[in-house]
Amino acid sequence: MSHPTDSTCIFCKIVAGQIPCFKLLEDVDTIAFMDINPVNPGHALSVAKGHWPTVDVIPPDVLAAVARTAQKVAKAVISELEPNGVNLLQANGAGAGQSVPHLHVHIMPRRPNDGVALNWEYKPGDRAEIEAIYKKLKVALSS
Ligand code: AMP
Ligand code: ZN
Repeated sequence: MSHPTDSTCIFCKIVAGQIPCFKLLEDVDTIAFMDINPVNPGHALSVAKGHWPTVDVIPPDVLAAVARTAQKVAKAVISELEPNGVNLLQANGAGAGQSVPHLHVHIMPRRPNDGVALNWEYKPGDRAEIEAIYKKLKVALSS
């Protein structure tokens, strides 16, 4: 698969070797490297080599390859760093906190009381609202 690129994109520059990174893994469709602003020690990224910004536009096989690479990195993080847990996080759009519009999955080791704001309390939803949204999505998924 050929990889679209964007010459202004920081991750495309890393893929092209124009900017250095702490490279962990590389295969035909993906690259994994350490995050330079780690939320905890060991924070790494699994990145598509091609410039697809978000989950709705990336080819499914490349997304699957990004997930496979994320799993390999997560296994190494778990066995070598022994965190209390690991979050895999993938943001789409500025509203979701995405700062680099080039698809990537964060591998984030978690530590007790690390203050990483990813976890939330259960709050029962409105059943009618859940059902109305469910029906809308169900129609979209069956067309
Ligand atoms: P997001 O906000 O989900 O788009 O995540 C982008 C991530 O890329 C952030 O965690 C940044 O710390 C990380 N990042 C940005 N530039 C670089 C770089 N040159 N090398 C490694 N990580 C980077
Ligand atoms: Zn890019």
